[in-house]
Amino acid sequence: SLEGFGLMDGVKTDLLIGGAWRQGAENKRIDVLDPSTGQVIADIADATVDDGLAAVDAASDAAASWAATPPRQRGEILRKCFELMVARAEMLARLISLENGKALPDARGEVAYAAEFFRWFSEEAVRINGDLSLAPNGNNRIMVQYQPIGVSVLITPWNFPAAMATRKMAPALAAGCTVVLKPATETPLTAYAMAALMDEAGVPKGVVNVVTSSKTAKLISAMLHHPKVRKLSFTGSTHVGRILLREAADQVISCSMELGGNAPFVVFDDADLEKALDGAMIAKMRNGGEACTAANRFYVQAGIADKFARGLAERMGAMRLGAGYEEGVTCGPMINLAAIERIDEWVREAVEDGAHVLVGGEMGKGDGYFYPPTVVTKVPGDANLVRDEIFGPVAPITVFETMDEAIALANDSEYGLIAYVYTEDMKKGLQVADRFEAGMVGLNRGLVSDPAAPFGGVKQSGLGREGAHHGILEFCEAKYTAVSW
Ligand code: ADP
Repeated sequence: SLEGFGLMDGVKTDLLIGGAWRQGAENKRIDVLDPSTGQVIADIADATVDDGLAAVDAASDAAASWAATPPRQRGEILRKCFELMVARAEMLARLISLENGKALPDARGEVAYAAEFFRWFSEEAVRINGDLSLAPNGNNRIMVQYQPIGVSVLITPWNFPAAMATRKMAPALAAGCTVVLKPATETPLTAYAMAALMDEAGVPKGVVNVVTSSKTAKLISAMLHHPKVRKLSFTGSTHVGRILLREAADQVISCSMELGGNAPFVVFDDADLEKALDGAMIAKMRNGGEACTAANRFYVQAGIADKFARGLAERMGAMRLGAGYEEGVTCGPMINLAAIERIDEWVREAVEDGAHVLVGGEMGKGDGYFYPPTVVTKVPGDANLVRDEIFGPVAPITVFETMDEAIALANDSEYGLIAYVYTEDMKKGLQVADRFEAGMVGLNRGLVSDPAAPFGGVKQSGLGREGAHHGILEFCEAKYTAVSW
């Protein structure tokens, strides 16, 4: 239970609507599980459709006064959120690890990353600059200002319960928007803890509202048909993203979508092997592989392939599997039973079709949703393991000969979130980076995410960017005024 973890302080389990913590209208609750045991650790309020609409009303009521709050003041409140997050880092990391399952070092990394969005956007709040120019015909001035887009619905997944919430809330609030956050029902406690922390930092009532529901699809559909909603920012699967884009079409709601990925990780013969292995471990195993940025397919040039595969198998095999919150554990459980069953099925299929397991490959028995770090070679090109997002600790390795072949393999996907390349030849590295069909590239880097950089994908990996200055503009509309003087 939460008490057993000393986590009850600051952990809220009710809906936050208009500054009040309350039950759902039907008084129902949803269980939250510890994925390392499958046991219930807490229960949270279950919002009805009317609760969701009430949350939008609350955000709408708070909108004008928040938009009129001076940018400096909005920035200072966000700065306070950053400071509180840093002060509570260990408690938040333990909460993330408990409900999501990730290993504590990963959870600590997430808290630091999540807090940075508050710091970054506290600084950006005062830099929403417009521009002024003379019309080409010389008759008037073109004045452009960026105004808050309005009430924003934010939907976040369970893999980064803190960072996905701050990556959306911080720019929205910096821009002057009010929000309704709908966190994943698997990991709601972190989101509620963040909302409580933001309240303490001075975020006015109604600016941040949080709802969780067992009827997510109905609730979100109703919210996206509420006339006050002007923005949807979603992080999750491409499948759900497509549904939401269709829903948002009815009211022509602006959409920022961070969807699935299928990241290639290309290693050339001239790569520094140790650095490539370090990068591969981070790109593959941060969060146990449950990241849309996770390296999903390894393409390794023939001259280095054996050494790379052996090195990766050795490192993957040395990881310690266990409950994320246990000291020394480096790979926690997956989020639920369906996740490990899917991974297991994909590995088995690949093996039946000729793939070779170097390490791992057997699902554990007993409680908790564990799958061991696994390396497979000789994976057929049409296997689910390389065609689709694994979202787990499995590394399929494929050997290539030429640069053109590597690029063709890397780009052969409907996704285009991120791609990695390792080579000591910078000219080649930059050429490959240029030709990757991806929104982001790691060139001799296994970790790319940075609040100061634009995060997002091309093709079916999404629309829009989060972080950097781009992130704030997703929550603004350009207002053009023609001025004569
Ligand atoms: P994941 O594969 O990461 O679980 P999902 O796309 O299923 O990704 O979920 C991401 C977020 O979208 C979660 O908050 C989830 O509750 C929400 N969600 C899932 N299905 C729907 C839907 N039909 N409408 C609105 N939100 C949804």
